[in-house]
Amino acid sequence: MVFRYCCRFKFRYHLNLKRQPAGAHRLWSHRSYKAKWPMKFILMIFQSASFQDDIYTWVRDHRVHHKFTDTDADPYNARRGFFFSHIGWLLTRKHPDVASKGATVDCSDLEQDPFVIFQKKWYLYLMPLCTFIIPTLVPWWAWGESFWYSWHVAVCRYCTNLNITWSVNSAAHMWGVKPYDKSITSVNNAAVSFLALGEGWHNYHHVFPWDYKAAELGNYGLNFTTAFIDFFAYLGLAYDLKTVPTNVIKKRALRSGETY
Ligand SMILES: [Zn+2]
Ligand SMILES: [Zn+2]
Repeated sequence: MVFRYCCRFKFRYHLNLKRQPAGAHRLWSHRSYKAKWPMKFILMIFQSASFQDDIYTWVRDHRVHHKFTDTDADPYNARRGFFFSHIGWLLTRKHPDVASKGATVDCSDLEQDPFVIFQKKWYLYLMPLCTFIIPTLVPWWAWGESFWYSWHVAVCRYCTNLNITWSVNSAAHMWGVKPYDKSITSVNNAAVSFLALGEGWHNYHHVFPWDYKAAELGNYGLNFTTAFIDFFAYLGLAYDLKTVPTNVIKKRALRSGETY
């Protein structure tokens, strides 16, 4: 009985890693570190398991978000309100500026990446396999979980992860502090960071998007993704980890951050 619950917990804990932060975001969107092929392969599978579009589409939208933050060309423009930036942007027709200005964003590096191209080509098979079929079949086959229980947990995991990812576009652009740039909507929000494995230090991230930690501090508790990348760096599979010198961060905070 205890073994069965441990298996369940462990399996679902691993499923929670199947999210965007280390791969589509910090590696492919921002090139904040480099990864060798085994790590890229794992990240490609994790990204397929999150069913949030293929890597190419996700990265393209995210680069447009950074380049045109808080304007009509921003696909999840937080100035249009919580609902729009959370989920509404997926339910409505894109603002014409998203396509016209978005076309100026360079994605040529992605077209050279065999993992991105492979995943884009086979996405319609990889996504359902990694998001729903394997997470349903493994508990059912390996430790006798009820098939329907397994299926519903897979669906619940997917919905929960979606809302956590969306909260970076909504909550982390609304409720929090702005120590680095008070003129933009993005904020540092510890609760989002905890849930999104370190992606809630969003005021910092918009100012210094090339930092692989996506945060000023490397606190693993509120930034599990940094621990994940550091572990792969320890194995020699991640390298060229980019950070920002402390004096540059301090200067920027003094120049444009909120004063407390
Ligand atoms: Zn943002
Ligand atoms: Zn970003």
